[in-house]
Amino acid sequence: MATTERHHFQAEIQQLLDIVIHSLYTDKEIFVRELISNAADACEKLRFLQSSGQTVHQPETPLAISIKTDEKENTITFTDTGIGMTHGEIVENLGTIAHSGTKAFLKQIAEEKKADARLIGQFGVGFYSAFMVAKKVSVFSRSWQPDEQGWHWTSEGAGGYDLEPTADLPRGTRITVHLKDDAKEFARSATVEQIIKRYSNFVQFPIELDGKRLNTVQVIWSRAKTEIKDDDYNEFYQYVGHDHENPLYRLHFTADAPLAIQALLFVPARNFETLGMGRVESEVNLYCRKVLIQARAKGLFPEWLRFLKGVVDSEDLPLNISRESMQDTSLLQKLNKVLTGRFLKFLEEQTEKDAASSEKFYHEYNRFLKEGVVTDFTHKESLGKLLRYESSTTERDKLTSLAEYVKRMATDQKEIYYLLAPNREAAESSPYFEVFRARNLEVLFMYDPWDEFVMEHLYDFDGKPLRAAEKADLNVGEIEREEGALNEDEAKGLAKWLKDTLGDRVGEVRVSQRLVESPAVIVEADKHLTSTMRRILKAAKRSGDTAELGKQDLEINPRHPILLRLEKMRQEDAALAAKVAEQVLDNARVAAGLLDDPRAMLKRLNELLEQVLATKG
Ligand code: ADP
Ligand code: MG
Repeated sequence: MATTERHHFQAEIQQLLDIVIHSLYTDKEIFVRELISNAADACEKLRFLQSSGQTVHQPETPLAISIKTDEKENTITFTDTGIGMTHGEIVENLGTIAHSGTKAFLKQIAEEKKADARLIGQFGVGFYSAFMVAKKVSVFSRSWQPDEQGWHWTSEGAGGYDLEPTADLPRGTRITVHLKDDAKEFARSATVEQIIKRYSNFVQFPIELDGKRLNTVQVIWSRAKTEIKDDDYNEFYQYVGHDHENPLYRLHFTADAPLAIQALLFVPARNFETLGMGRVESEVNLYCRKVLIQARAKGLFPEWLRFLKGVVDSEDLPLNISRESMQDTSLLQKLNKVLTGRFLKFLEEQTEKDAASSEKFYHEYNRFLKEGVVTDFTHKESLGKLLRYESSTTERDKLTSLAEYVKRMATDQKEIYYLLAPNREAAESSPYFEVFRARNLEVLFMYDPWDEFVMEHLYDFDGKPLRAAEKADLNVGEIEREEGALNEDEAKGLAKWLKDTLGDRVGEVRVSQRLVESPAVIVEADKHLTSTMRRILKAAKRSGDTAELGKQDLEINPRHPILLRLEKMRQEDAALAAKVAEQVLDNARVAAGLLDDPRAMLKRLNELLEQVLATKG
């Protein structure tokens, strides 16, 4: 007659169970994943024993997981042919010695004042999640060790568990969950099938549910690349990515150091954020040896790579403590660093290998790369290499990289110049561009207002400072001075008069060294502010009150006919000259895209036209 042993749960386990039983209401289905994950672990361990030459009980029994639902009995049963447990192991694993994660889980719950069932597996106490749905759990287990025997463990959660020897069990573990009345759905085959497909599709051992093989999708990321067809990859992508198109890119790689990683990453053909779907969330699932640790794993990649989809499988999240390791952010950071570095390298390789696809990638995803430059200091440099712009020397729509720009720089050019403008025409006719044209200096043309901030954050490239064209300290130098240009004194005198006339509407008025065709140009007095930034800041404020943005200076072109005549006119007709001065200022504002309200300007312009017609008529 077998004797039944009565055991108490260790105090912390009992506390944990009370929470699981009474406080976890959401995501109850998690227990299916946890029990399958344990079954897969057990199979994995047996495979390891066999491969290391150990003699195991029933060596012919294939490694597999089978699940049976019973709606009449209200049960769900998980059977595996893995390593099983001895008496000592059952006592140790199922209730006596607290897993180190127990304390952490209890602490988390105490701190957050709420319990999240999805976390339970991460703390290495997944087995107990069964008690979310169970009135009773019954475990039959037979260890792999040839001389062992079977054991039967039962518990109703409260108080403790019973343990008794049982003869004639096959190797492995069978767990029957007797469902509570409010959890009957887990005795329904269709419900359970959905759950298994969601969480355990890539478990590498066959999973059968009520006789039906479920995990048909092959684990492809651990197979050799040469064995995998494009179609396989694409099918897998469509499954994990919930997409109906093929991916634009895929990166399948294995790393051994500093972490063992198998990763299969995809870039969707289209940027979902531009499809009006709002902010996308990373859909990279984290596995440890084919067992899902976390779907849409947080922290695996930086935010700006949230468009990636796929899987990362790392053995360095060890089987037994894997869920705890997820808590260990330094491990996650290490993974993040390796994965991000590898993906950036991949992108760089692609630009060399395949211009067409990398252009498409850039077109779809450049905003993410730019976000990366602004938000992620650690990858700034690699990201800088991926940026592409039109420039004053490229053809329309042909983009160039900063590296190519640097290659074209003359030896005495120290800075990389860029100009923000609404489009190419505006850039080419911008007064800020004149000095560059005159001196034959290349300027990157940027049409996305974000780029201003991107350049500010990137700061330099290949040791060369990035400089906004309007902030460049350049002069047109030795170009021919037109006949009759104002001499230095005249020009300075005119500048002073302009300042007196325009008063507070401008900061300083200076004689410009950078203008060729335009009469005058607006220059932000603040060293860091550009006209584009002012526009953005103004738009963000909407108040019209931009006083705190600092003054705008006016630079005048001493060779321009308007200024030449103005110099004469200010002595002959002060009133008309003042009107012209104001118009020169407003025109410069228009050129810089900074004129707020054209009504006053139009009124003045009409008066000027009247006067012109009157004198000529
Ligand atoms: P974890 O799986 O993170 O270790 P669990 O609470 O899920 O935490 O499981 C506790 C332990 O119980 C496992 O580490 C394992 O030793 C043992 N165990 C659970 N299920 C099985 C099983 N099906 N076969 C063998 N051992 C098991
Ligand atoms: Mg587990």
